[in-house]
Amino acid sequence: MNYEVLLYYKYTTIENPEIFAQEHLAFCKELGLKGRILVAEEGINGTVSGLKAATAVYKEVLKSDPRFKDIIFKSDETDEHAFKKMFVRSRREIVSLQLSEDFSPNEVTGKYLLPKEFKEALLDEDTVVIDARNDYEYDLGHFRGALRPDIQNFRELPQWIKEHKEEFLEKRVVTYCTGGIRCEKFSGWLVKEGFKDVGQLHGGIATYGKDPEIRGELWDGKMYVFDERISVEINQVDKRVVGRDWFDGTPCERYINCSNPECNRRILASIENERKYFGACSQDCRNHPRNRYVQKMNA
Ligand SMILES: [Zn+2]
Repeated sequence: MNYEVLLYYKYTTIENPEIFAQEHLAFCKELGLKGRILVAEEGINGTVSGLKAATAVYKEVLKSDPRFKDIIFKSDETDEHAFKKMFVRSRREIVSLQLSEDFSPNEVTGKYLLPKEFKEALLDEDTVVIDARNDYEYDLGHFRGALRPDIQNFRELPQWIKEHKEEFLEKRVVTYCTGGIRCEKFSGWLVKEGFKDVGQLHGGIATYGKDPEIRGELWDGKMYVFDERISVEINQVDKRVVGRDWFDGTPCERYINCSNPECNRRILASIENERKYFGACSQDCRNHPRNRYVQKMNA
């Protein structure tokens, strides 16, 4: 376990994000890091892996910059890199929600909940818990009793809420996501939409799983992560498998991408079923002329 995977974000002002991105990329490469970092005028959002000695330097240098002095790093140990390449990209937003009227979570956001407070919210019948992630992330693992918006992209979440607004406008609403960044803006948006009591899990599921007292209790399944590991364990107390095989509905926690390169849908499948169905989510995808699984077999 000589490597560390970092997950972090900070809403702050970065002037000239393009220049910042170029310099930051050079710095990351110098340290031998790999991963994906987005920078915008509104801040930074990143996940990188590297040797522990390198990630230690990275954290120290970032924290010495006044803009990032109180940045929080979520950390996992691994035995190798969790990414293949190093990207630092300048974007309009560090998480793409594409609101018509954008705002900063530093101005409006939901109340921050500690893991302990979040667990109490999960057990409270009058609180609605909304998963702010995508459907395929939810399907692998989620908090017990949380609502599953059927969206495949974060940008679709505000529309989904608008369609279901009456169901929970008068209730207390709490949200959660992987590392907390999606909820910063989403919970702020809920406040602006007129929801009266809005909370968010501070530091996300990643922090909840590491809390020494809570130890991931009431989380079911595994947590989807956007790196080579694909998923990580969260619940150290009473884990249940909730993922279901796309083909036969049996318990499954193994993700594959549909072998049709134009589909790429993330589905859960056992090794046997991947083989049996050529890794394709449908008959059409199986018969696609550029099906990757078929090409590999013919190679
Ligand atoms: Zn498909």
